[in-house]
Amino acid sequence: MGSKNGGTEIITIVGAVLRAMGATLKNLFRKPITVHYPDKERKYPSRYRGLLALTYDKETGEENCIGCRLCEYVCPPAVIKVEMLKSEKRNYAKTFSLELYACEFCELCVQVCPTDAIVMMKSFDMPTADRREMLLDKDRLHRIGLDYEASWATGNKLRDMQTPPKAAAPAHKPAPTTSGADAAGPRPAETPA
Ligand code: SF4
Ligand code: SF4
Repeated sequence: MGSKNGGTEIITIVGAVLRAMGATLKNLFRKPITVHYPDKERKYPSRYRGLLALTYDKETGEENCIGCRLCEYVCPPAVIKVEMLKSEKRNYAKTFSLELYACEFCELCVQVCPTDAIVMMKSFDMPTADRREMLLDKDRLHRIGLDYEASWATGNKLRDMQTPPKAAAPAHKPAPTTSGADAAGPRPAETPA
């Protein structure tokens, strides 16, 4: 009886080992899904929310930021600080700082920006052991904007998406009646000519 149980146990163990080895063998010839970062970079989706950056106007080369501080007001963890510089033709950001180490990558600042001045990049490439290096000033934010590819989203594109669709043309409805019996809709005989 004892040797019968022992034999069943051995068969179970051998079966388990063979199954595990089969799984190993199957995966041995599979194409790897990892990449050798940073030598090789993954292709990020167009809506990737990576590093934040400030942009320049591509035609005039001017800073897009007008120092309106909307991003500062909307930021949930309050990591953005902007000082406005008033000027004759337009306003600028005199100073702009962003504490990236406390950012939630929620994209709200991008969504509210009226001039597409703040955007997110398709990269998270900022390795550091010193948190102070992640306190980004205006110059560094502009540099990031030049060095990396921007994500698809800008404030204007996102707001366009949120525009509610136009209401459908109203269907011809019979005039409303006051009696409870008519509340469910007029019967054919009662429909006005
Ligand atoms: S992504 Fe969100 S948390 Fe980060 S700076 Fe913008 S608003 Fe603030
Ligand atoms: S980044 Fe945009 S929202 Fe923020 S201060 Fe500049 S213009 Fe205003």
